[in-house]
Amino acid sequence: MKFPIYLDNHATTPVDPEVFEAMKPYLMEKFGNASSRIHSFGWEAESAVVKARKTIAEFINAKSKEIIFTSGATESINLAHFGLCESLSKKGNHVITSVMEHNAVLDSLKVLEGKGFEITLLPVDKNGFIDLTQLENSITEKTLLVSIMTANNEIGIINNVKEIGAICRKKGVIFHTDAAQAFGKIPFDVEDFNIDIASFSAHKIYGPKGVGALYIKSGLKITPLLYGGGHENNLRPGTLNVAGIVGFGKSVEICYNNMEKEASRLKRLRDKLYSGINSQLEDVYLNGSLEDRLPNNLNLSFKYVKAENLMSSAREIAVATGSACTSASLKPSHVLKAIGLPDDLARSSIRFGLGRFNTEEEIDYTIEKIVRIVKQKRAESPEFQLRENFKEKI
Ligand SMILES: *Cc1c(COP(=O)(O)O)cnc(C)c1O
Repeated sequence: MKFPIYLDNHATTPVDPEVFEAMKPYLMEKFGNASSRIHSFGWEAESAVVKARKTIAEFINAKSKEIIFTSGATESINLAHFGLCESLSKKGNHVITSVMEHNAVLDSLKVLEGKGFEITLLPVDKNGFIDLTQLENSITEKTLLVSIMTANNEIGIINNVKEIGAICRKKGVIFHTDAAQAFGKIPFDVEDFNIDIASFSAHKIYGPKGVGALYIKSGLKITPLLYGGGHENNLRPGTLNVAGIVGFGKSVEICYNNMEKEASRLKRLRDKLYSGINSQLEDVYLNGSLEDRLPNNLNLSFKYVKAENLMSSAREIAVATGSACTSASLKPSHVLKAIGLPDDLARSSIRFGLGRFNTEEEIDYTIEKIVRIVKQKRAESPEFQLRENFKEKI
């Protein structure tokens, strides 16, 4: 077994060797600019981009012309939000989202709020789900956009996007979904799910960092964020990241060709990790619903111990405490607060994100280590001691 063990696959994933092999020629001998229309270097690059675009489109049941490449899900989300709010500003000024969203969604909508848009933040229940009736009732004449993620990056819950999309269709509002975590891991069909616009990222699915895509349903008008050339249907100027796009296409192909098998392998390992920990420790709480959950996600709170303290004694295991994006600050995660966790339990929580390269042996090691350090840290906790003494008395 090699250390450290990487169990933070919601933050990012390593590039699959097959993806890397596919990318290599496009960094070296096939380095052309996909916009160079008059020589073979350009044609070669362009045809690789065409192929990747087709692969991604096919796997989500879209058309090639509905996919534009960006630098990642953050950019796609910003383009969707700002681009739609600008192009549809005559229709209204109201956007609906949820308290569970990634910061890329929340922060971009916050800026739009400063520009006069009205933002409704739907609450979630203890499992992490919005109330669909409340969503429907929140839609007004002024609503132009609903932005709800497909799967959550912290607790892994999967929203009923098909139903959310159907409500939006019925009410005539645009539905955007941040699919960065769901894409490549669970079936995703823009037609079946009634999706108008969706954001994706390559580095969450064993592709390179710095490349992503935005699906825009034909006929939907959005305004670009950047100016400087006609690339990507005049929506995203700049020389295309050809190698990154090729890698993205390959990573999508691998995910979709192995989806079912890989999902059941990860789910078995995840369930083993959960039951291994839960059967040996008391006061361990699962955050988020166990059903409708990404197969690779486990988020647990270990009462009486701080997650940072735990993991400082297990440096050979790489996990996240709270969200990777907010763990620079020590504020408890907004997602865990949204499902009703008190601050102390939110600070006791660990996100395990399993991935393609994790082995059974690594999971066995993790169970053993986590159980051991939780017991050890709890033994040092006055609050835990008090409870143990109290239990003895009754
Ligand atoms: C990682 C992630 C993003 C940001 O994606 P980048 O490609 O890193 O910009 C957005 N939303 C969710 C749910 C994510 O997990």
